[in-house]
Amino acid sequence: MKCDPDLEIKNNVVEFRNNSGISSALTERLLKKCQKQGISAIFPFPIEKIIVKDWVNLKCRYGCSMFGTSWCCPPATPEPEKARAILSEYTTALLLTGTRKCADFYLDNCRKRSGMVRFWKGIVSTERLLFLEGYYKAFSLVSGVCSLCKKCTYPDPCRFPQEKRPVIESFSIDVIGTLRNLGGTSRVAINMADLFNYYGIILLE
Ligand code: SF4
Repeated sequence: MKCDPDLEIKNNVVEFRNNSGISSALTERLLKKCQKQGISAIFPFPIEKIIVKDWVNLKCRYGCSMFGTSWCCPPATPEPEKARAILSEYTTALLLTGTRKCADFYLDNCRKRSGMVRFWKGIVSTERLLFLEGYYKAFSLVSGVCSLCKKCTYPDPCRFPQEKRPVIESFSIDVIGTLRNLGGTSRVAINMADLFNYYGIILLE
């Protein structure tokens, strides 16, 4: 893209990127920045490894207490067909992972919420860093549920729209199937002493 020479800020112009992948140097740099926010690993992968299934939407509609209570969950988020169409506009994604104690999962207190907020903000700020690196299509999907507010304002307007992102499952993504597709293993943490992983995906380009 050609810049108007009068508008160009010398030595401070980042080229837009498309189909250029992501270097391991940049991935490492991003990881260093987001480790403080509970992200312990970042893996780039091809978008076709993501599995979208209609049954995931069914699980959101029936059996999940978050349905119809958050801007980040169905029905406020794209239907499976729309999610497939959006994903088809990308070629590469990043999987970001963190680890937490199983006992924390059952908590309903400030400690649990602050961990979720930290991770959420870590994903969204990594997306922002990628945008500044020229990945203009970067967009995050986060795990869990948006906890930026104690109680979501849905269906009234979101309090922090700049940080509002859909939850991974709300895009009808089969997280376990996708992890298997990436060569990973996953199991249900049943003992309080166990650790469990949580995930974020950044659609890149
Ligand atoms: S920022 Fe607040 S209002 Fe907006 S989606 Fe998250 S919890 Fe809901």
